[in-house]
Amino acid sequence: MLPSDRLERVSSWGGSTSAMSWVYRPTTIDGLHEVLALARAEGRNVGLRGGGQSYGDASTNAENFCLDTSRMSRILAWDPATGRIRCEPGVTIRQLWQYAIEDGWWPPVVSGTMHVTLGGAAAMNIHGKNNWKVGTIGEHIDEFELLLPSGEIVRCSRDERPELFHAAIGGFGMLGCFTSITLRMKRVYSGLIEVDPVPVRCLDEMFDVVESRMDRADYLVGWMDTFARGGELGRGLIHQANYLHDGDDRAAAQTLRVANQELPPTLMGVVPKSIMWALMRPFTNDPGVRLVNFAKYRMSMLEGQHRYRQSHAGFAFLLDYVPEWKKAYGPGGLIQYQSFIPADAARAVYREILERSHRVGLTPYLGVFKRHRLDPFLMTHAVDGYSLALDFKVTPANRRRLWEHAAELTRVVLDAGGRFYFAKDSTLTAGQLEHYRAEDRVQRFLALKRELDPDGLLQTDLWRRLFPAKET
Ligand SMILES: Cc1cc2nc3c(=O)[nH]c(=O)nc-3n(C[C@H](O)[C@H](O)[C@H](O)COP(=O)(O)OP(=O)(O)OC[C@H]3O[C@@H](n4cnc5c(N)ncnc54)[C@H](O)[C@@H]3O)c2cc1C
Repeated sequence: MLPSDRLERVSSWGGSTSAMSWVYRPTTIDGLHEVLALARAEGRNVGLRGGGQSYGDASTNAENFCLDTSRMSRILAWDPATGRIRCEPGVTIRQLWQYAIEDGWWPPVVSGTMHVTLGGAAAMNIHGKNNWKVGTIGEHIDEFELLLPSGEIVRCSRDERPELFHAAIGGFGMLGCFTSITLRMKRVYSGLIEVDPVPVRCLDEMFDVVESRMDRADYLVGWMDTFARGGELGRGLIHQANYLHDGDDRAAAQTLRVANQELPPTLMGVVPKSIMWALMRPFTNDPGVRLVNFAKYRMSMLEGQHRYRQSHAGFAFLLDYVPEWKKAYGPGGLIQYQSFIPADAARAVYREILERSHRVGLTPYLGVFKRHRLDPFLMTHAVDGYSLALDFKVTPANRRRLWEHAAELTRVVLDAGGRFYFAKDSTLTAGQLEHYRAEDRVQRFLALKRELDPDGLLQTDLWRRLFPAKET
């Protein structure tokens, strides 16, 4: 009999789904072994979980075990001369940059939030605003240790078990549990980064500006006013950022200090940020977001282009400025629909996606635009092209329509040879992934899953949704 005090409701980050699970949070590798053994003995399966920052059901596991690795959060080795760091899987990106920055190192790839763990980051092979330039986080991982469903721990690198190396990174926790990850950090010569904001008047300009700056930028990201229509469809604001060179910042020793990176606790020195989500809530509806987007865009046009220097954390983790901002979306939560489209087709596809969303009255509240490149991992989500991430509010009234709308968008994306990212997905179905499953590299991944986990010990709600037993 499983202990009822282990039963918890575990939620997707976006809050649109949740599940009851027996949750275990071990602090040691022995603890991991014990949880796997208990699950086997009880005839349950195990879903791995890090920071729980995936928008959908990638780290929930209904009626089964949730193995949360966030308490395995020790930094195991650090070499400030080379920037090589070895961590337990529960170390967060926040811990990582705070630990290394004073020695002049920054994580080579970060997500828009710093609350992601390295285990979760490797399992999804996360990308940053520099994806077209430096690739995904997997490209900066030298090696890792993986606890297999059999209980064996194996070391993987590009030389040692290279197939498993390229499958477990991006393998969404289906092949084993990372127990340590060794990463190469990026050398930085200042705690500041130079930011160049560029307002853009329409979708074509969004593409043109990003395209024209790819060889000189270190980071590029576009915010889109998702309510703009007609000739202004796709207007927004691009931020280019570049590292400073050695000697550019005479106060580098100061700017590299953690205290000078921290995001401020108040807005404009007055409003405590902990209550900001509540103040945003009355505006998190169509008229409110339309107005806020309009004001943001107009202000960026009025201010024009002026460069400024900003802390790395301030630039990288804009989405962490307002803690718990997702609560502004209300009890139904939000989903993100992020599609990755090859460069040739992307302009037409994103025009179609935005116009369709307007036509059916389901306008996303946030749009984020990025440039990507291919990578060598089996379950990669990347394309040589673009992604547009769209946040949709979920309510009891729109839920069914929203999922139907997402299915329509998915047809458009798949017709264009596009891809999806499991860290963000909530709406795909197994049927929609038929062609994807047939790809040679996905078949190789599924063969590895059958070989390493013949009893299906590792599962999540996402796995069962997209890879049902009869298909795998
Ligand atoms: C506000 C916000 C902004 C974001 N921005 C970006 C972005 O810019 N780029 C991007 O790529 N992603 C982004 N994400 C998504 C996020 O980076 C991924 O979902 C990431 O995987 C979350 O890591 P986590 O530690 O929270 O893992 P979880 O969400 O808990 O789990 C993610 C996956 O990792 C597996 N897993 C967890 N721990 C382990 C382990 N020890 N061993 C093996 N598998 C494990 C889980 O089973 C699951 O499949 C964003 C998310 C949020 C909420």
